[in-house]
Amino acid sequence: MFFKDKHCPTCGGGGTQVFTPLTPEERKALGTDRTDLWRCTAPGCRWYQPWSHRAGGGRLPEELQNPGADAAV
Ligand SMILES: [Zn+2]
Repeated sequence: MFFKDKHCPTCGGGGTQVFTPLTPEERKALGTDRTDLWRCTAPGCRWYQPWSHRAGGGRLPEELQNPGADAAV
């Protein structure tokens, strides 16, 4: 598995969130073919960034927002 824990600038707090590589659909929505972009998997979060640094990151379109936490209960 490729899941990693990183600090998310938009989730904030002192903890880390699980990040996962962008799917082909997400890359397409951003208009990029880059495969080194990861996204935060926290419910409602749309943050993505290159793996090694936050510069160049941003927010995914709203339709690609993670579903709420309900399903994870
Ligand atoms: Zn986040």
